[in-house]
Amino acid sequence: MSFVDKVVLITGGSSGIGKATALYLSKQGAKIAITGRNVANLQAVADECEGHKPLILVGDVNEEAAVKSIIEKTLSHYKKLDVLINNAGIIESGSIEETNVEQYDRVFNTNVRAVYCITTLAVPHLIKTKGNIVNVSSVAGLRAANGLVAYCMSKSAVDQFTKCVALDLASKGVRVNAVNPGVIVTELHKRGGMNEQQYEQFLERCKTTHALGRPGQASEVATTIAFLASDAASNITGASI
Ligand code: NDP
Repeated sequence: MSFVDKVVLITGGSSGIGKATALYLSKQGAKIAITGRNVANLQAVADECEGHKPLILVGDVNEEAAVKSIIEKTLSHYKKLDVLINNAGIIESGSIEETNVEQYDRVFNTNVRAVYCITTLAVPHLIKTKGNIVNVSSVAGLRAANGLVAYCMSKSAVDQFTKCVALDLASKGVRVNAVNPGVIVTELHKRGGMNEQQYEQFLERCKTTHALGRPGQASEVATTIAFLASDAASNITGASI
C-alpha cells in the first residue's frame, strides 16, 4: 500500500485513531495534513511521524470558517488532495430519558455536520485527483446500544452519508468508504465522561462482548483505513469494514 506522493487530510489527527493513521501513512510515504484543536498534541504527532512531517492545521471542525481554512491551507501547501479521512468525533452517553437537545447538537455537529461540511469543500479537489474518502464511523452506527442514543444516531448518519456520497461520486472516479470499529483503546470514552475505573471495567467487558476477546488498538484501525484509502481497494466503494 504505497502512499508515495499522495496527499492525505486527516481530521482529528492529534489523538487515538487519527494519530495512529497519521503515523502509519507518513511511514508509507504520504504527505499529510492533520487537524485538531490542540496545537501541542498535533505538534507531538508531527514530531513522532517517521516520514514527511505533517502540515498542522489547528481548528474546531464545528466552525465553518475553520473548516474552510483547513481545506484552503491543505491545497495551498500541497497543491492537491488525494484522500480525505473524516475521523474527528466525540462520544457522549445518555439514554432518551437522560439526554437533551444540547447534547444531541454537540454530538451531531461534530460527528455529522462537520463531516458533511468538510466533504462538500473537499469533493471538487478529490474529483480532480480521482481520490477517495474514508469516514470513521463506528459499530454504533450498525447496532443499537443502550444509553448511547445520540452517538448511535450520529454514526448511522455517517454510514448513510458514506453510501449516498459513494453513489453520487462513483461516475467521477471518487470512492467513499467507512470503517466501523468496535471498542478501540483511545481517549474517546474518557473524554466522553467515563472515569478511570469505569473505563477499565468497560475494557474488561470487551473480553466477552468482542469476538476476539479484547478491544482493538488504534494502529489496527489505521491499517484498515489505509487499505480503503489505497489503490489496493480500487474496486471498493460504498463499503464499510
Ligand atoms: P480521541 O478522543 O482519541 O480522538 C478524537 C480526535 O478528534 C482528536 O484528535 C480530537 O482533537 C478531534 N476532535 C474532536 N472534536 C473536535 C472538534 N470539534 N474539532 C476538531 N477536532 C476535534 O478518539 P478516537 O481516536 O477514539 O476517535 C476517532 C474517531 O473514531 C471518532 O469519530 C470516534 O467516534 C470513532 N470511533 C472510536 C471508537 C473507540 O472505541 N475509540 C470506536 C468506533 C469509532 P482535539 O480534541 O485536539 O480537537
